[in-house]
Amino acid sequence: MNILVINCGSSSLKFQLIDANTEKLLASGICDRIGIEGSVLQYKGKDGVKKTQESRILNHSEAISLVLKTLTDSGTISALDEIAAVGHRIVHGGEYFKESVLIDDEVIKNINDCSALAPLHNPAHLMGIRACREIMPKTPMVAVFDTAFHQSIPPKAFMYGVPYEWYEKHKVRKYGFHGTSHKYVSQRTAEFLGLDLQNSKIIVCHLGNGSSISAIKNGKCIDTSMGLTPLEGLIMGTRSGDLDPAILDYIADREGLNTKAIVNILNKKSGVLGISGISSDFRDLLDADLKGNARAKLARAAFAYRVVKYIGSFCAVLIGVDAISFCAGVGENAQFIRGMIVEHLDFLGVKLDNEANKVCGKEAIISTSDSKVKVCVVPTNEELVIARDTKAIVERL
Ligand code: ADP
Repeated sequence: MNILVINCGSSSLKFQLIDANTEKLLASGICDRIGIEGSVLQYKGKDGVKKTQESRILNHSEAISLVLKTLTDSGTISALDEIAAVGHRIVHGGEYFKESVLIDDEVIKNINDCSALAPLHNPAHLMGIRACREIMPKTPMVAVFDTAFHQSIPPKAFMYGVPYEWYEKHKVRKYGFHGTSHKYVSQRTAEFLGLDLQNSKIIVCHLGNGSSISAIKNGKCIDTSMGLTPLEGLIMGTRSGDLDPAILDYIADREGLNTKAIVNILNKKSGVLGISGISSDFRDLLDADLKGNARAKLARAAFAYRVVKYIGSFCAVLIGVDAISFCAGVGENAQFIRGMIVEHLDFLGVKLDNEANKVCGKEAIISTSDSKVKVCVVPTNEELVIARDTKAIVERL
């Protein structure tokens, strides 16, 4: 059963075609600069050959048409009806969606309702959904939400200490993001370590350009670091993470900026980029640190410190921990950052296996065999979860 997995941004459309029976990736790519001069399709077929095609792509409908044409022209599929269903990644499902759903008019309305909470993402996802509906009207579509896995977080953990009316009137609460990744990695961690997921305490550290961390008890998320938006929590590539909210007013007065401008800086010019003044990329920061750059060293240390702080608090929330997993660009590849984090955890009985910790982008246990808490690297695969959920829902039709 071939599932087309789509992740739409405002000017990009990423896709993967996955055979959901064998879980094999058949093709992948991205339409970039949609509606902007210089739009381009990058495509990788199952032979692994990459191709880049410059092409006028005026809108998301044209992008979908181009993707489908490329899939057929390349012989990956021989006809469009070989695509059994489309799975859409949706960033914000608010309190409407606790799991993935078949897309119908009501679902579209509710995704649209959540647009105020994710103005950069949900409207773009809707463009993708509408484009697919137009071009493949008979193909079932499923929505898979970044927020859904976190809907099990209890009210005492998702409430902010603010007037309750803000929650009632404006939906102000913690939602959490990267849920698809936290779900996949926690399940895979249990499988990989031979733990009973239904009787387990797992902390997942999704450390990428955007980073978040979750406390997962018996397979259900009970707390996570991101909040109403993906700005809360860990220090990230360009995002500040947690800070004193009074900083907004303080900086507004001193820099003559309004809150929108400041939040933009907190999203795009803060994090390790802001601290280092060099880069949001941890590879650049390591190079600079090794050359003696003090701010690059500080940025890496502050990043690792915040992760440690969350792990500590989530151990308290979970009342213990069986396993800690690292995933995403930094978590899967940056051995020194993992090392900086794990060396602070010996109070938990965690012992790092320095040799095993050299792993890059592969599933591995990086703690020693006598470590009380297992520490692993588990590469995330959000697209595969979207394909699995889509298959499961479509098979019930
Ligand atoms: P996102 O999906 O949030 O954009 P990713 O999970 O793809 O981000 O992570 C991207 C980040 O991973 C890069 O910005 C870089 O900092 C980091 N990264 C990737 N490869 C390595 C590596 N080999 N060593 C250190 N960091 C790496």
